[in-house]
Amino acid sequence: MNLVVDIHSHSGYAGGVGQIELRSVSRTMKLKGIDVFGTGDCLFPPRTADLRRMLKEASQGLYALPKDKCSFILQTEIIFSTKLKHKKNKTLAHHILLFPDFKSISKVQKLMSKWNMKNTIGRPFITSNSQTELEDQLFEIGNVDPYLEIIPAHIMTPDGILGSKNDLSEIFEFYGDYCKKISAIETGLSADPAMLQQIPDLVDMTFISNSDCHSAALNRIGREFTILDVEKRDYHSIIEAIRKNNVILTAEFNPAEGRYFMTGHRSDRKGHFYDTILQNVKCGEPICPECKKKIMLGVKDRCDQLTNRSIVPTKRDFIHLIPLIEVIAASQNIRNINAKKVKKIFGAIMNIFPSEIALWQSDSIQVMLDKRVDEKTINQILAVQKGDYTFQPPGFDGRYGKLIIGEGK
Ligand SMILES: [Zn+2]
Ligand SMILES: [Zn+2]
Repeated sequence: MNLVVDIHSHSGYAGGVGQIELRSVSRTMKLKGIDVFGTGDCLFPPRTADLRRMLKEASQGLYALPKDKCSFILQTEIIFSTKLKHKKNKTLAHHILLFPDFKSISKVQKLMSKWNMKNTIGRPFITSNSQTELEDQLFEIGNVDPYLEIIPAHIMTPDGILGSKNDLSEIFEFYGDYCKKISAIETGLSADPAMLQQIPDLVDMTFISNSDCHSAALNRIGREFTILDVEKRDYHSIIEAIRKNNVILTAEFNPAEGRYFMTGHRSDRKGHFYDTILQNVKCGEPICPECKKKIMLGVKDRCDQLTNRSIVPTKRDFIHLIPLIEVIAASQNIRNINAKKVKKIFGAIMNIFPSEIALWQSDSIQVMLDKRVDEKTINQILAVQKGDYTFQPPGFDGRYGKLIIGEGK
């Protein structure tokens, strides 16, 4: 059976947003069509307590709110950092951690209490004394339960394992023998399978995609997701599907919209009058022609650096996605996705389609929405479904790309 999962998120403890109520998360999940959602921050003790109090196990390893069908998977992000012998700076990488039950959460919390660990903003930050210590720690976490899964997160962003800051040529430099236990990676918002499929380290990996969201908003939850082919709707089946690459498709944020897609500096940086975007950068840290400082390599150029064109890619189905609420807002020339008019149109569409995912997968949008939804909105939804849109400028220097719909690609 198909299961739509979005299994990397953050709670209100991660800062930047207010408390994220699981009730509002579940409401958004239903509208979007997400079956299983990652709780976020499950190793952060106050959050662990909240989750224990609010959630009940509904099927093996999947949890739910009382009288609610949406499933939650116990999940956190975790950061490992160490100084590798051959590198000047520390190497650091974000990971998704998935847990089969609260018992294994307690065990990992106990393990980490003996390590050099900081956990102040919801996600543990572990500093290991050496690569060997890091490798041992990963094995210790992995040994807590055979179904505990560690997945390198948004691998190409500056905080991802293969990102430009770390400048590793292969993940073995960081994980050592733990590499054998890593079966999946997360593509991240600024990369899609097409950009990653010819990177030698990733050829045999499962690619999954998640929203990594910090809010329950309609343009955050499910902005990326993965459809898995699972035997049963339970935790073990999800992990099996991830390990065996039983991925039906990943729905990807358009990489050009991602905040680190291109290599460049924004005009509002000190010493800048214009946006500077460099094209096809080959070297590691190019110099900005305006401020003469180093520019961090964007994800596109970083992927090109690691790509080996002679590799025959594994077949991977994926689609690009723009949140419906953003398409509606753009069609009405409204910036605020929370505007009354935008929400009203969204509500009208949700009375016609069972979920947003169902809408994007439908081939009868025109017929279904005709005369019931504003024509401009219908046209822009159809344009997005056809892929007729761009981001101008694309995402770079930490800010998202600007969406332009329907002017030909
Ligand atoms: Zn992260
Ligand atoms: Zn600059």
